[in-house]
Amino acid sequence: MNDRFVVVGAGTMGLGIAYVAATAGYRVDLVEVDPDRAASAGGAFGRLLDRAVERGKLSADEAEQGRGRLTLRSDLAEVADGPDVIVEAVPERVDLKRSVLAAAAERRPALLATNTSSIPIAELAGAVTDPARFIGLHFFNPVWAMALIEVVVGPATAPETTEAAVALAGRLGKDPVVVRDLPGFATSRLGVTLGLEAIRMVEDGVAAPADIDKAMVLGYRHPVGPLELTDLVGLDVRLDIARTLQSAYGDRFAPPPLLEAMVEQGRLGKKSGHGFYRWVDGVKQ
Ligand code: NAD
Repeated sequence: MNDRFVVVGAGTMGLGIAYVAATAGYRVDLVEVDPDRAASAGGAFGRLLDRAVERGKLSADEAEQGRGRLTLRSDLAEVADGPDVIVEAVPERVDLKRSVLAAAAERRPALLATNTSSIPIAELAGAVTDPARFIGLHFFNPVWAMALIEVVVGPATAPETTEAAVALAGRLGKDPVVVRDLPGFATSRLGVTLGLEAIRMVEDGVAAPADIDKAMVLGYRHPVGPLELTDLVGLDVRLDIARTLQSAYGDRFAPPPLLEAMVEQGRLGKKSGHGFYRWVDGVKQ
């Protein structure tokens, strides 16, 4: 163990995973190909640490140490061989994930994980040199606040790998569930069902988005409504997941035309400032 953690993709999830790894004491390489994303990731990481200090979750010293543990990279080839963990958090496309995982496997990590929300581990495992060390580690958004990690065990995953993944979740301060490798696992399959139906209800004019959300928050005690959650996750991300689940389970997961149209228009939710709600500086209006 050398306490080295690599995250590939500095988007919504990758940044959060890098943050929890750094605050758990790992030295973190965060690999991002998009220069604009890479340029903003360092600042965003620093703001997460600052906010944790303001809220009393970290001391100023701990935040400073966390800051010193992050290195941004533009290519996996720059990462030294033999890290403890590599977590892939690039967009939900099978071909992209397979090529990133193949490059990640070349760095010979002790544990190789994908943060996929819906793609079977078995479908990605063929791309890696050692599928016994490969597993799904499905983090939740925002990563620093959400306790759950879904540990998704592929058909070739070794029992020691599952044990290592469960232990890693504990070190990151998370509470794992171990699930079988079926598309959508335990969470996305149910969560996306609710989200897609809520979007169909907007299409049908059942109620305004805020009222559909309010109904679930007050009527079912959900902490956040399905449309606001879709804004938080990213409409593009949910669309990709819906398409993956549609090909696995059929048209009950067909993306509603409204979702496709909003993604087409760049209304991606919180990250673009506009989805089912307007967002200014990350705050729902
Ligand atoms: P995102 O679009 O916010 O970020 C993906 C990042 O990966 C982008 O910055 C992109 O530039 C980068 N990238 C693309 N190709 C790359 C490459 N070859 N090397 C390095 N970086 C590359 O996406 P996200 O919301 O962070 O989702 C990432 C993964 O996590 C997806 O599989 C998604 O299904 C899953 N996930 C998302 C959520 C969520 O709430 N958004 C929750 C759980 C899991």
